[in-house]
Amino acid sequence: MLLSSPSKVQTYQSDDIQTSQMTIVPDRGSDSDDSESTVDFNINNLNKVNGYLSSDNLMSDPTQSNDTDATIVTRGRIARCIEEGNPKLHIENLGLTVLPDDVEDMKNMVCWNKGRLSAAQIEIYAAQNKLKILPPCLFNVEQICVLSLRGNKLKKIPGIIWKMKNLTELSIMNNDIKVLPYQILKLPKLTNLLVRPNANLIELRDQDPHSYYCIANAIPNQDGDIRRYVSRVKWSHRITSAERTSPERTDREIAHSLEVSPVPKLSELALRRFCHYDVTLSETKLWKRTIPIYTQRMVTKALQKGIYDECCSVCDKVTVNPIAKALEWWDFKDQTLVPVRRNFCCGNCVKVWLDDVEDKLERMSSC
Ligand SMILES: [Zn+2]
Repeated sequence: MLLSSPSKVQTYQSDDIQTSQMTIVPDRGSDSDDSESTVDFNINNLNKVNGYLSSDNLMSDPTQSNDTDATIVTRGRIARCIEEGNPKLHIENLGLTVLPDDVEDMKNMVCWNKGRLSAAQIEIYAAQNKLKILPPCLFNVEQICVLSLRGNKLKKIPGIIWKMKNLTELSIMNNDIKVLPYQILKLPKLTNLLVRPNANLIELRDQDPHSYYCIANAIPNQDGDIRRYVSRVKWSHRITSAERTSPERTDREIAHSLEVSPVPKLSELALRRFCHYDVTLSETKLWKRTIPIYTQRMVTKALQKGIYDECCSVCDKVTVNPIAKALEWWDFKDQTLVPVRRNFCCGNCVKVWLDDVEDKLERMSSC
């Protein structure tokens, strides 16, 4: 027997969410307080920002709404799973563009097993749809152990994937994914990961041989995961581009010459304070009237990074504007050379990562 009590109800507009890195859309003039030069904060009725925005959405079908047939069918199937105590949700091939927030209702499912109650092991099969983004509430369903998202239009897997601690199988092949977040490495039960094919995956073989280092050899029949290659540090565009690629200088020398601050910028720290803030619609209207558009954009970005836990990969704090990034290629689960992105919030976090990489490089050269 499985039981569930419905959690809070959320709605969102399907054309308001997206997966791309840039997060701002111009205002669409839906409110008389808004002028064309303000930001759409995209607040839902729970005072949460609804996810990534991008200008792509403005080109999406305006007739597309939250109540498409596919959404209605999906909501019905979720409700039926809960009623029938069935932990397997099958929503393949529906043309679904947004996973409805009702999916969060599955988080309270329990099953009666051998005389006691235990959490249901939920399996979600959503292959062959048109999903571009996963709703943040999906990651509150900690009991998900199988998540099949094959054949969708996902551009990224958000950092908040770390919350799915019971995930054993994840299938994300045939999407638009370029790289996985470092948090994927922290899923303790993940055993089966299917990444390829993904046409846009950043493959090591396509990289300039001077842009990465080998830090570990492949070990046949190795059980654990191995980080085998790392890219050079890619400094953010705010740090002068002339210094960015000098192959004869080490990343540490470049960091030194750029005088990278060891601590995050004050603006970054301020935005970090905002990232989990519950904004009200009236507040956003006030902001639109009273604060500069650049600040509005930064605040929106902070809220969106916060809701998806896009963090610095060293200190694990939400990072709105990383000062640098790097890529790593891992032999991970059964997959070879899976690209994983590292973001860094400050010079100190870059240094911690570089120390580790240099240590591995030294060990490579001594054996
Ligand atoms: Zn950091």
